[in-house]
Amino acid sequence: MNILVTGGAGYIGSHFVKAAIGAGHRPVVLDNLSTGHRWAVLAEDFYDADLADGAKLKDILSKERIEAVVHFAANAYVGESIENPTKYFNNNYVNTLKLLDAMLECGVRTLIFSSTCAVYGIPGSIPITEDEPKKPINPYGLTKHFIEETLKWYESAYGLNCIALRYFNAAGADPGLDTGEMHDPETHLIPLVLEAAAGRREFIEIFGADYDTPDGTCVRDYIHVSDLAVAHLLALDYLMTAGKSGTFNLGGNRGHSVREVIDVARSVTSSDIPVRQGQRRPGDPPVLVSDSTHARQTLGWEPGYEDISVIVGHAWQWMKKAGEMGL
Ligand code: UDP
Repeated sequence: MNILVTGGAGYIGSHFVKAAIGAGHRPVVLDNLSTGHRWAVLAEDFYDADLADGAKLKDILSKERIEAVVHFAANAYVGESIENPTKYFNNNYVNTLKLLDAMLECGVRTLIFSSTCAVYGIPGSIPITEDEPKKPINPYGLTKHFIEETLKWYESAYGLNCIALRYFNAAGADPGLDTGEMHDPETHLIPLVLEAAAGRREFIEIFGADYDTPDGTCVRDYIHVSDLAVAHLLALDYLMTAGKSGTFNLGGNRGHSVREVIDVARSVTSSDIPVRQGQRRPGDPPVLVSDSTHARQTLGWEPGYEDISVIVGHAWQWMKKAGEMGL
């Protein structure tokens, strides 16, 4: 299939592009490189373009004979979304409408959409199923929720089929080390812990150790980015064959605390990682753990890298390789 991959120069998008090529598809990447990287574009076909440019979108969709769209492009910093909500409402929501409208004009009615567990806000029960009430507590999660809701109306009115995938904590790197995580600024726990292991930062700060969790630190469900990538291919197959829209959690169905992650990183890197205990970070729910049974049963998704030490190990190998490449 010819697949338009928006945000294909980003972290999860570039892993999807690799998986899609491996499965025999032809991904066409569209990315404005505002947070993505040219080196992360693994597809032959690349457009340095912005979703805001509706005319360009239509041009690409028709010229490249696009049959499906996998839409990763978005801003994804929770803290930034609280400080600068207009950026998120425009880039994530308004620009997604432009994409949807361009798709409809060009007759493309198959979409895989990157959503997030941030749509749940502070969940009432753990593990979180797809039926959990959607009460996002930051503009980032709200934009994803708006899009999910919008898509329901686009399906009933225009026949646009979509699968929304709600990611838990994407982590790790391509086991072949063709791509990996690189954010500027980096805010995610695992790369920051590894930077401390590499001596590139003095210590890792634990954001709150007084939560009502077994060791007082927040618990998250880390899922390997290559497993996320495969889930998109399965979702695409499902959408093309069953023709049914749907929403799926993608996580590991288990949680790891911040302290556990640091301990795993110590053993993976054989480094003594200095830690400082800091204040809670605003907007952090204490525990986010998925129930991803729906994706496993309906899509046949089976994550291959469930062990947190394997996930951290791949991230570590990638960090070393990126350093050697001067990235
Ligand atoms: N965290 C931390 N120190 C850091 C970065 C993150 O203690 O320097 C914690 C954060 O509070 C959260 C967990 O690590 O409980 C995962 O945070 P991350 O930003 O990686 O992902 P999020 O769950 O916010 O999407």
